[in-house]
Amino acid sequence: MKQQDSLAARYRPRTFAEVAGQDMIRAVLSRATAEDCPAPAYLFSGTRGVGKTTIARIFASALNCARAPVPEPCNECPQCLRVIQGAHVDVAEIDGASNNSVEDARALRETTGYAPMEGRYRIFIIDEAHMLSRHAFNALLKTLEEPPPRVVFIFATTEAHKFPITIVSRCQHFVFRHLSEDALHTRLAVVLGKEGLAFEEDAVRLIARRAAGSVRDSMSLLDQVLALGGSSLTAAVTRDVLGMAGQEVFDWLFDAMLRQDCAAAAEICRQVLADGLDTGFFLRELAGRLRSLFLLREGGETVLPSLRLSADEAAFLRDTCRRFSAAHLHAAWQTALDARRGIVYSPDPGASLELLLLNLVMLPRLLPLNRLESDACAPDTAVDSAASPRGRQLSQAGALSEGTTAALLAKDSGDTARAEEFSRREEFAPCIELLGARLERCTELIRISE
Ligand SMILES: [Zn+2]
Repeated sequence: MKQQDSLAARYRPRTFAEVAGQDMIRAVLSRATAEDCPAPAYLFSGTRGVGKTTIARIFASALNCARAPVPEPCNECPQCLRVIQGAHVDVAEIDGASNNSVEDARALRETTGYAPMEGRYRIFIIDEAHMLSRHAFNALLKTLEEPPPRVVFIFATTEAHKFPITIVSRCQHFVFRHLSEDALHTRLAVVLGKEGLAFEEDAVRLIARRAAGSVRDSMSLLDQVLALGGSSLTAAVTRDVLGMAGQEVFDWLFDAMLRQDCAAAAEICRQVLADGLDTGFFLRELAGRLRSLFLLREGGETVLPSLRLSADEAAFLRDTCRRFSAAHLHAAWQTALDARRGIVYSPDPGASLELLLLNLVMLPRLLPLNRLESDACAPDTAVDSAASPRGRQLSQAGALSEGTTAALLAKDSGDTARAEEFSRREEFAPCIELLGARLERCTELIRISE
């Protein structure tokens, strides 16, 4: 039986136009090949699976294409075909991780001196280039100081910060970005269309979300689901294969949060672990849902388009957000975000997950949310009271806080109701401060996610 190519290999883009995302980078490189004026060195940085090597190969094809100068490789001439097969004598792909010895550096330096043999340019694509040794970088630096004609270096790296600044300053540096869920969705739909497979929109949405910005991951996840799912792609099979929690688990959890039902939280945790769900992704989904709930609660319908939800999800969240206070959702979101890293790296992730779910359910008891909200809205008169002579005296005498001083002042004047109000506010001052810090962080997160 013939072994099937992976989808990623079968649908690897061969032209700049076929690449998903990275619009600016594609435009600049395509122009460089069309005008036949490549830079001597490029640095492609960005996380894995966002198209660095793919674009480097397309660039190499276009520069060496028999019809050059061209904005896109023809992918038909012998030059292009040899690059695609990885057999072009002038296009070398070097793995920085396994070629980082002194000898490798010397060999690299010697080979870069030769003119191209068959093609128009000699191109070195160095993957994981940050792994190169100091000797290799020194050898490269000498070459880059006086770049030989018709030689192009392309360094690809996931860790640009590990690159010597002397090398970076001699490269055109392109930062490859994560792909948006929409861009991944479109790409997956195109591939499914070409494969002639029926699919549910929700299934594609799940894979796009799960791939977290990586095209390569989205393709291997699709491969994985299709291996079991057969000739069509459904949301149910996708969740099953990828170990993703269904909507009903979140329904159950939000319900438990409303009822402050600890037994249910423990049961949900047991279920998540028994179903073998991917804990890391479950936490990401949970934090994402709490974020959507909070934004919907505060921003209303106007934020809906930016949340990219399916119709079912939108209906559910719209319904659910009304049942919680904004402060409650905010504290829950923060708690879930803070716990994520701890749980993934915990020696006992199950126990840590259970604690998080219990914390979420117990939140209203851990933080007096209702009172917090009304206190945050109360007019602030404490500061004025503390400014009076008696206030200053009290403050200085016992180094009392402004709130306590105000309470004592009110008590002095016989206004017990006000005194009580001020001491209550004092009691909640740390909570208010905490909430303020959380709101600040929230604003920051929203800004980053935009
Ligand atoms: Zn060609």
